[in-house]
Amino acid sequence: MALNETDTAELDISKQFLPQTESWAEPLWSGLHRGELHIQKCEPCGSFVYPPVEETCPQCTAAYSWHRASGTGRLWSWVTFHRSYYPGYPLASPYTVLMVEIEEGVRMLGSLDADTSVEELQCDMTMKFKPVRLSDDVHIPGFVLLGKERSRLET
Ligand SMILES: [Zn+2]
Repeated sequence: MALNETDTAELDISKQFLPQTESWAEPLWSGLHRGELHIQKCEPCGSFVYPPVEETCPQCTAAYSWHRASGTGRLWSWVTFHRSYYPGYPLASPYTVLMVEIEEGVRMLGSLDADTSVEELQCDMTMKFKPVRLSDDVHIPGFVLLGKERSRLET
């Protein structure tokens, strides 16, 4: 296979790994570009939902509203991937995926920001939400160890 064919194949494949940015979840995706986490909330129940859903609350059938989350949470667990399993996957190995319980009470997956090394991680550490930039158009949820985050102007 010629080099150009390989490059084209990898570019095509990588698109399938990018998040589906449905219009009804626009507050989540636009917030990521600003470094903010927006999640859904059922006002009558007071419960939060992540990842976003298009449906109404299963408890009371109210429509969810969007709420800017605090952006801090507690590290539950993490895993480091040392090899790539799929050609074109947007994160270069090794990369670390965290499970963090945010202050609003929902657990979410996010990538470990480059400002924190995996050797620093311990369960129950306080993490700060910091989206990871894949391209100009695409950011995905991510976290950095609280106090290790640099301002967006420095990055
Ligand atoms: Zn509800």
